[in-house]
Amino acid sequence: MPQTLPLHALSSWQEQLADLISDPLELLRLLHLSPAQVSYSEAALRGFGLRVPRVYAARMAPGNPRDPLLLQVLPTQAELVEQPGHGQDPLAEATALVAPGILHKYPGRVLLIATQACAIHCRYCFRRHFPYAENRQSRREWEESLRYIERDSSIEEVILSGGDPLALSATHLDWLFEQLARLPQLRRVRLHTRLPLVVPDRVDARLCEQLRTLPQQVVLVLHANHAQEFDATVDTACAKLREAGVTLLNQSVLLANINDDADTLTALSQRLFSAGVLPYYLHLTDPVQGTAHFDVSTARGQQLLRALHGRLPGYLVPRLVREEPGKPGKTLL
Ligand SMILES: *Cc1c(COP(=O)(O)O)cnc(C)c1O
Ligand code: SF4
Repeated sequence: MPQTLPLHALSSWQEQLADLISDPLELLRLLHLSPAQVSYSEAALRGFGLRVPRVYAARMAPGNPRDPLLLQVLPTQAELVEQPGHGQDPLAEATALVAPGILHKYPGRVLLIATQACAIHCRYCFRRHFPYAENRQSRREWEESLRYIERDSSIEEVILSGGDPLALSATHLDWLFEQLARLPQLRRVRLHTRLPLVVPDRVDARLCEQLRTLPQQVVLVLHANHAQEFDATVDTACAKLREAGVTLLNQSVLLANINDDADTLTALSQRLFSAGVLPYYLHLTDPVQGTAHFDVSTARGQQLLRALHGRLPGYLVPRLVREEPGKPGKTLL
C-alpha cells in the first residue's frame, strides 16, 4: 500500500507560508463545523484577517467547536463587543518608539519590530491594532534603528519581535544578523516567535546555521498556549534549535476557555519541558479592543499559579505577569 505523505512534507516552509488558510469557511469545512456552531463573524474577519498554517490546522480536533487551537484563530462575534477601558494601544507602545520599529521601554534591552508579518493571526493579539504599515522598514530606516542601538552602550540585548521575525526571508535575516553581529556591546539576541510551533519546517538547516554562528547568545521564546499545539514535528524543530545552541523559553497568554484551568496549564508545562522548553511568562491579557472575551482576572490567575506550584517543580511554573505602561519591566503578580 502506498503511504500518503502528510501535506507539509511535500512543500517548503516558504510554500507553506504562501498557502495559509485565509478563508474561515474553508477552515470550518476541514473541521466539519458550521459557522453557527462557532459564532463565526464576518465583520470580525474584516477587522483582522484569518491566517492559519495548514499544518497547524491539522492539530485541531475535527468536530470540536471549542477546540483550543481553533479558538485562538477564529473571528467570532464576541470581538465586536465594545468594551470600556479596552483601547487600540493599551501599552502606549506608540510613545516608546524611539527609532523606526524600535521600542525601548525597559533598561538594557530593546525590542525591534522586525516585520509586520505573521504566519498566524491570533485573535487575542495585543498588536492587532499596531500601525504596522507605518513601521514598514526601508533599508535606510533599518540602518537608523541599528545606529540607535549602537549609540547606546547600555543595550545588551536585542529582542526581535513583530509580527514574527521568522516570517522574514533567510536573505533578510542574513543581513540583519550580520548587522547585529557587529554590535560590540550586545550579549544576547532574543527572538519572540510562533513559527517553530506553527510551521516547524521553518527551522531548517540554514536558520540553525544562522543562529549557531551569531557571536551573541541566542534565546528563542516560543509562544505556545496549549499542549495540543505540540506534535512530533514541533519536537524536532525544538531539538534542532537546541543543537544550534539556542536557549528555549516559552511565554503564554492566559486565555479564557483556552487554557485558564490548572490541568491545562500543568499539561502545557509538562509538554514544553518534554520538548526542551522552559516556561517563562504567563501573561494576563492586555486591554485591547476586541479581545475582552479572552480576559482572565488577576485573582483567578493567581489562584491558578498557586495550583501549579502545588503540582509542578518550581522550574516548570511560569511567572504570572501583566504589562503596564510606564513601568521599567513587566509587573509580577
Ligand atoms: C516584554 C518586553 C520586553 C522584554 O521584557 P523581559 O522581561 O526581558 O522579557 C522588552 N521590551 C518591550 C517593549 C517589551 O514589551
Ligand atoms: S504578533 Fe504574535 S500574537 Fe500577534 S498575531 Fe502575530 S504571532 Fe499572533
